[in-house]
Amino acid sequence: MSQIEPLIGAHESIAGGVHTAFERALRAGCRTLQVFTKNSNQWKSRPLDEADIANYKTAASESTIAPVIAHDSYLINLCATDASILMKSREGFVDEIRRCGALGIPFLNFHPGAHMGAGEEEGIKRIVESLDLAHEETSGSPVMSVLETTAGQGSAIGYRFEHLRAIIDGVKEKGRMGVCIDTCHIFAAGYDISTPRGYEETFTLFDEVIGLGRLAAVHVNDSKKPLGSRVDRHEHIGKGAIGEEGFRCLMKDSRLALVPKILETPKGDDLEEDRVNLALLRKLAAS
Ligand code: MN
Ligand code: MN
Ligand code: ZN
Repeated sequence: MSQIEPLIGAHESIAGGVHTAFERALRAGCRTLQVFTKNSNQWKSRPLDEADIANYKTAASESTIAPVIAHDSYLINLCATDASILMKSREGFVDEIRRCGALGIPFLNFHPGAHMGAGEEEGIKRIVESLDLAHEETSGSPVMSVLETTAGQGSAIGYRFEHLRAIIDGVKEKGRMGVCIDTCHIFAAGYDISTPRGYEETFTLFDEVIGLGRLAAVHVNDSKKPLGSRVDRHEHIGKGAIGEEGFRCLMKDSRLALVPKILETPKGDDLEEDRVNLALLRKLAAS
């Protein structure tokens, strides 16, 4: 039986332009890639100009690395209680969708939001409103809005699969909604994927509550913090509380063969840590 190369990659820097991420991804040994399309820690970013878009499209068409996933800015909170932050978040989210559209990036991954004390139900309502507004403003866009599971730090929504289900149920354009499982986040949220049995239970539950068909991507990160800690700290694959066994289950899960799996683990400029983590994932897939 022929072994298919797993669809794995990493989040890469866009220092020097969004298009430069392809060269880094290639050096790291990625088959798929995640990027920010703007500075992730600033509200204002220079709009993409024609040269940015042309450079990106050339790099993308010359590369076999696909699909590309965009991660939105960390400042965006689609259920902010502060009116000015909510407005900036909604505008920022629409801008992120438009940037993806201009570059031809099919997926925009984002954290659902933090309710800031308003309560989860209220937060979910506001996120649904924000998504409906964004989808209306970008009507006809092929860009999917991909909800990421969270560790449940602070007042973050998205640490139960039911939260994501409720958001999808509320949103008008359900065809534009996808989901991303972050392994570190769900483990910290209390889903024990460190053993074959726990892994199977977790993915069966995910399939029941959300449906594996909605799974657009997996963020492949080990966790520095223990099960149920609700603290989000990424660790290199196999070096954290999830451990190699959990990632073996993930890499050998044929239901996820076509789902891009992206590392968000720390690394230096030489990308050596990416190469080590990707090699380990390949080894686990073939084990
Ligand atoms: Mn994220
Ligand atoms: Mn993530
Ligand atoms: Zn994280």
